[in-house]
Amino acid sequence: MKNITIVGTGHVGLVTGVTLAEIGHQVVCYDINENDIALMKAGISPFYEPELTDLLKKNLNKGQLFFTGDPKLALVDAEIIYIAVGTPTAENGSVDLSYIKEAAKTIAENITKQEVIVVTKSTVPVGTNKLIQQVIVTNLTNEVNVNIVSNPEFLREGSAIYDTFSADRIVIGSDCEKAASIIEEIHRPFGITIFITDLLSAEMIKYSSNAFLATKISFINEIANLCEKVGANIEEVAHGMGLDFRIGTQFLKAGIGFGGSCFPKDTRGLIQQATEAGQSLEILEAVIKVNKQQKYSLMNKAKQRFGNLKDKKIAILGLAFKPNTNDVRESIAIDIASELTMQGALVTAYDPLALEEAKQILGEKIQYALSIEEAITNTDMVFIATDWDEFKDFPLEKYEMLMKHPIIFDGKNSYSLDEISEYNIEYYSVGRPFLN
Ligand code: NAD
Repeated sequence: MKNITIVGTGHVGLVTGVTLAEIGHQVVCYDINENDIALMKAGISPFYEPELTDLLKKNLNKGQLFFTGDPKLALVDAEIIYIAVGTPTAENGSVDLSYIKEAAKTIAENITKQEVIVVTKSTVPVGTNKLIQQVIVTNLTNEVNVNIVSNPEFLREGSAIYDTFSADRIVIGSDCEKAASIIEEIHRPFGITIFITDLLSAEMIKYSSNAFLATKISFINEIANLCEKVGANIEEVAHGMGLDFRIGTQFLKAGIGFGGSCFPKDTRGLIQQATEAGQSLEILEAVIKVNKQQKYSLMNKAKQRFGNLKDKKIAILGLAFKPNTNDVRESIAIDIASELTMQGALVTAYDPLALEEAKQILGEKIQYALSIEEAITNTDMVFIATDWDEFKDFPLEKYEMLMKHPIIFDGKNSYSLDEISEYNIEYYSVGRPFLN
């Protein structure tokens, strides 16, 4: 059992803290957001994540988990410190390391134990862990021996707890063998394959993994667009491709492209790193370009169908960047909603969880509905932008009953063509034949 402190208890940090407490460690979670700290102290997660609240409450009650906004209290007894602060894109396109540097400084000023290991969970450009060590060493107020470990995070929002206990691998990178083996011990109870490597390679593994997954998405979306032109069905194609184990079935789902808190910023971040290193990443540049075009593919279909979207009443189903989360960071649905309003459309959106978060970005530009029924009633067309189960389970006859003339632009291929063909619905999806 180790005294562990998490610095930055957002989506990654809180899940890390709660799950490390669950496997028996004593965990202190520290964040600069006092409002969120107050919520977490009361057993409330500031964001939605399945299974998180139960584990949070359970470990708070057991006394394994503690929350504070006081850095001194958080760090005075810490032996192992995980950094999980944000690393957004800066205005100049590079990775904004200001939160990382601030966290490193706070750690340096408050640690007191003789030996401390600082573990970076945040996604950071190659070389950043060395910078973290430098910032800590230059700002130390006590005599502490600090070792650095990179432990990039691979969880997916919406299944973060499941992913933490069932990940494919845990990556531990360090130039200090002893520190790496201590962190390996901490993670061993998860029962997951642990890959130990050097610091720089661990940092690169995270970026290149996300870049590869993004590549799969843009690849399948381009093939989907071609399928539409030549009459093939992307779902048949992806299934047939995926049966080859060298290709695999995962991440071959065509749609409206990738959004969210990681893929867009991490693909940009890797390109920026390559540019600084004097290399171009041409495949990744193309991945991002294809993704930008794919975002508006549904809207282009709607424009082709209607000529012009001015004053058209449009329902958008889904605002979160993916199902089972209320996160709208770089959500494609938000961009679509915004663009539709620029075209003069009258947009009403519904999302099971992310309405409040979306309102903070879109404000009064669109209307918000509290149910699918309310959103689609008397609209000219429906856009499906997030693959929530609630949309997949929605009875199709209701589109017939509630819309003027049922027209769906489905960016998530939510319904099977066989199902749709039983109804009087004009149906446009991605990479599959159009149904009328
Ligand atoms: P987040 O915005 O949800 O959380 C970051 C937290 O850090 C916030 O609560 C913020 O208040 C806090 N913070 C900022 N500066 C601080 C400081 N100096 N001291 C203490 N707390 C501070 O971000 P996130 O989604 O959890 O992402 C964190 C990192 O993990 C990023 O680098 C991200 O790329 C990476 N990551 C995220 C995911 C994901 O699905 N969200 C998955 C894998 C990796």
